[in-house]
Amino acid sequence: MKLIDRYGRKINYLRLSVTDRCNMRCQYCMPAHGVDKITHDDVLSYEDLYRISKAAVAIGIEKIRVTGGEPLVRKGIVPFLERLSSISGLKQLVLTTNGLMLDEMALDLKNAGVKHLNVSLDSLNAKTFAEITRGANLFKVLAGLAAAERVGLPIKINVVTMRGVNDHEIEQFAELTRDKSLAVRFIEYMPSLKKPGWQKLSVSGNEVLERLGQKYSLEAVDRQELAGPACEYRIPGAKGTIGVITPMTGHFCSSCNRIRVTSTGQARSCLFSDMGMNLKSVLASEDPLALQGALRHVVELKPDMHGVSADRDNHDAFAMSNIGG
Ligand code: SAM
Ligand code: SF4
Repeated sequence: MKLIDRYGRKINYLRLSVTDRCNMRCQYCMPAHGVDKITHDDVLSYEDLYRISKAAVAIGIEKIRVTGGEPLVRKGIVPFLERLSSISGLKQLVLTTNGLMLDEMALDLKNAGVKHLNVSLDSLNAKTFAEITRGANLFKVLAGLAAAERVGLPIKINVVTMRGVNDHEIEQFAELTRDKSLAVRFIEYMPSLKKPGWQKLSVSGNEVLERLGQKYSLEAVDRQELAGPACEYRIPGAKGTIGVITPMTGHFCSSCNRIRVTSTGQARSCLFSDMGMNLKSVLASEDPLALQGALRHVVELKPDMHGVSADRDNHDAFAMSNIGG
């Protein structure tokens, strides 16, 4: 079954946030004091998250990305993932993590049916990493990456590129792709928190490619089925790939294929718009078709594009950890 929105886009991808809690405090994601914790009662049970996922697959979702907050801090995540991966019709179950707990959990994730991991890693320098994450330990994440590699879980590394913070490491990240079949993707900073002067941090995907182009003759890589929004390239002869994700400058809205559901049951049609609906009341109904109808409605609410750009940030500020990125 195909799920097509008002603008003719095929919607086949659900980002499912299972918690707003996190064991990091990244500067670009949440304010220094953290975010008000959602009470236990407001967080959807695994059973409800499963029912939503099943309904989503029934109407045409083929790929589910589990995210957070940090998804690996929620107790019971592994059996939940196992259950999700057995939903008939789901082609791909993937997970986004900050990698802090991967060292202990990589094998369980693989056995639960997770097909690949996106690991957020913004610096290869321990001090810069601790500054960006407000205190996290780089070596723990590197141990997690090594564990994922050992168990054979394919890895994409997401780097939010920020001028004067980590943009001097672009080349170093690119070099990681030479000997390992990693995908490194540079993501444009998004002003979710609306911090004054955020524009100074922005490095466009084009600038990243131009800077890399001065050193390497990058080859374009063909898009895979169910690929995300990255445009991907390869250093000739390298095992891995380099990509840019350009939510601010690239207008990938025209090929947007996703909806989001937060851990409190807010279904969102677009990251920068709260057009959507609360699924809690729908979950109260035992009728599985009600959930399918609600998710279809959310797809219908998808705007043609978000209005956020370097000179326009008239959205309400939000912590990305509450929505799942
Ligand atoms: N905790 C997990 C992690 O960090 O990978 C999953 C949740 S996190 C909210 C999902 C993604 O959102 C991460 O890749 C993170 O880098 C990205 N993100 C958060 N705030 C962002 C921002 N202001 N601009 C760009 N990406 C952001
Ligand atoms: Fe936590 Fe991920 Fe947000 Fe960092 S980006 S604070 S790891 S949710």
